[in-house]
Amino acid sequence: MSKPSVAIMGLGIMGSGMARRLLSANFSLAVYNRNREKCLPLSAAGAFVAATTREAASRSQIILSMVADDTASRSVWLGENGALAGASPHSILIESSTLSVEWIHELAAEAAERGCQFLDAPVTGTKPHAASGELFFLVGGSAEALDAARPVFSVLGRDVIHLGPSGSGALMKLINNFLCGVQAASFAEALSLINASGLDRAKATAILAEGAPGSGIVKRMAERIAANDFAPNFALRWMAKDLSYALKGASGKGVSLPIAAAALSTFQQAIAQGHGDEDFSAVTKSLSRRDAAS
Ligand code: NAP
Repeated sequence: MSKPSVAIMGLGIMGSGMARRLLSANFSLAVYNRNREKCLPLSAAGAFVAATTREAASRSQIILSMVADDTASRSVWLGENGALAGASPHSILIESSTLSVEWIHELAAEAAERGCQFLDAPVTGTKPHAASGELFFLVGGSAEALDAARPVFSVLGRDVIHLGPSGSGALMKLINNFLCGVQAASFAEALSLINASGLDRAKATAILAEGAPGSGIVKRMAERIAANDFAPNFALRWMAKDLSYALKGASGKGVSLPIAAAALSTFQQAIAQGHGDEDFSAVTKSLSRRDAAS
């Protein structure tokens, strides 16, 4: 069976790794990025660089977006030069960014109006998983659209879970990430107590990371802290975004998430202190600063 042509819109940390992965599997690939400089290495590797998302979509059977947030997603899909305007009714549209469920429902309706099949398919995994094709796709939408997109998912991911109708993948991803955000904020609090108490930080961190509290998130953060490396794999501002979308979605269902709200304010404080573009593990720096100041 011939490989479907693909468009990737958004060549940030995740999208660029996914695009390279498709090129190395010999897919015909069109790419778009707002800042065009990020297209150059992909162009050198064989991708077609589209001037607009409409152009990228018009050349592709599978159109995948991997951008920052709802605003970015609106701008790549909608409008005269947006991907929906270029997509054929036979295209499969995939939104893999982590977005609000409310926007995903709107986007699914826009796609349906144009006769296109739409999947929300956010991912777990981070920069190295995007580059190595080991993402985990959480999918909402029809089983038929998912089957049509499988050739792409199988190159980009190690697994695909179909959670139900449109919006189910987005909701599951926000639940996943608010729990990650809560753990990260709470680990930052533990560290600030360790620092203030004069305990040996390396020993204390190792005890937490290796013991019962040592989730994947806590382990990842402990490694970053030990290496003093806060270059982003997952930017701190996007963790705040995910917490805020989770809170919005939950409140729409009459559910309150007070612990997620507290974690969000910790992340917002870190952004206000200039850590938004660093890895989310830099949330630990922000709490230490606050403690030192008080
Ligand atoms: P990133 O490196 O910050 O890249 C963001 C991308 O969005 C860039 O291509 C950027 O374009 C584009 N963008 C931002 N605002 C835009 C706008 N208004 N219009 C058009 N394009 C816009 O982010 P990332 O880490 O790749 O994450 C992408 C998505 O995946 C996010 O939703 C994130 O939450 C989710 N995610 C990330 C990870 C991770 O570990 N990194 C894991 C799972 C899910 P420019 O280059 O022009 O700024």
